[in-house]
Amino acid sequence: MRRFLSSITRCVGAFALTTSLVLTGAGAPFPSVAEARERSNLPVVRDAEIETLIADYARPLLKAAGLSRSGIETVLVNSNDFNAFVLGRRIFVNTGAVAFTETPNQLIGIIAHEIGHLKGGHQQRLRDRLEGAKVMAIAATLLGAGVAIGGSVAGASGAAGAGAGIISGGGAAAQRSILNYMQGEESIADRSAISFLAKTGQSGRGLVETFQTLERGSIFSGSRGRNYLSSHPAPRDRVTAVEEAARRLTPYDRTDPPALAERHALARAKIAAYAGGMSDVRRLFVKDPRGIGALYGDAIATFLAGETASALRKMDGLIAARPNNPWFHEMRGEILLEAGRGKEAAASFAKAAKLDRSNSGLLKAEIGQALVVAGNGADMKQAIELIQAGLQSDPINTAAYRYLAMAYARLGDVGRAELATAEGHWNAGSLTDAKVFAARAQGKLQPGSPAWRRAQDILKVKSR
Ligand SMILES: [Zn+2]
Repeated sequence: MRRFLSSITRCVGAFALTTSLVLTGAGAPFPSVAEARERSNLPVVRDAEIETLIADYARPLLKAAGLSRSGIETVLVNSNDFNAFVLGRRIFVNTGAVAFTETPNQLIGIIAHEIGHLKGGHQQRLRDRLEGAKVMAIAATLLGAGVAIGGSVAGASGAAGAGAGIISGGGAAAQRSILNYMQGEESIADRSAISFLAKTGQSGRGLVETFQTLERGSIFSGSRGRNYLSSHPAPRDRVTAVEEAARRLTPYDRTDPPALAERHALARAKIAAYAGGMSDVRRLFVKDPRGIGALYGDAIATFLAGETASALRKMDGLIAARPNNPWFHEMRGEILLEAGRGKEAAASFAKAAKLDRSNSGLLKAEIGQALVVAGNGADMKQAIELIQAGLQSDPINTAAYRYLAMAYARLGDVGRAELATAEGHWNAGSLTDAKVFAARAQGKLQPGSPAWRRAQDILKVKSR
């Protein structure tokens, strides 16, 4: 996986995300390849539970910013670094930022700050200001992220080569000017964040706490948080200004609703379990080792350690305590699937989907995916319907295309299986592979049929 942006990551990190591909023809049949490519440059991780939580944090703030109708979405990036940034119409939040914020309000403050950048159009203004590889290189050096220039941005290898030479000669005056400019935007984003928090009746304390923690550097072992710090220098006067405004304008002592605090703890537990297993979970919940977050992390870490029977028992205990938590049922389904009990897994996913008020397409597709694993031929039609329903609402789901292809193959429909594989590659941002499979699909599909035309759409896309 290309991990380009995980090393440059900053608020206004769009310098190098150009795409080398353009669509021809009337319109994109799927999410645009530029969109898929943008995601594929990042280690994006899909998880309905955490995505829903972050979307719930962002929604009222976007409304307060007057941006709720702008189609802005939040994306989760799989990186232990503490970071969040905006790119295009998306707010990217690292798993590390979720794991290292102790309260919802701390992460909400960071998201409010990012929305401040969106509202201010900072990213676009910075891009207008910066020109070409030269400034890219300067900015990368500035951010202590020189590696990014050497990183593989598809289609930008020329720029990367030029950048490498310029870094050594980089103009100090230009660097200072850009740094000053960016720090100005940081203050504006801070002020906007406080106003969004005030409008939504939320405390600005979390933002202050996060800045203070970053400044102390105490929770970050090694380099964690370094990238965020390099783009978000938090000198004393900045923190002081944010704290002053937060105390004056927001309900400073208001705490998070307990239900939200619990969701935050559960999200942190899941991230800790996947990132570092049982030891990370224990470390994270050292103050509350019998709390629900610790128990959830423990169950997931047990599952990941391959002890499915024990993990199932632990999940059943959690479900008894919180029968209406959709994500507990989803995790139970994951464990059952791993244990080869596909039918039961499908039932757990179905229960989760029923309880999930966010109507997650990922969950819907999972029901079908479990049926593909479990079922005999008779289940494949239903599996296909379920996966397609999930993809309808959430097409950026590469796993789902793999299962869709398997289901078609089981039915002996090789043409549609190849087409599903082509669409999977398309959504992963890999146009070359998408074309290979689209061509294979066309050879087997009825010419002129809707499926054949879908394959044709992919084949018509031109590389620049
Ligand atoms: Zn910022």
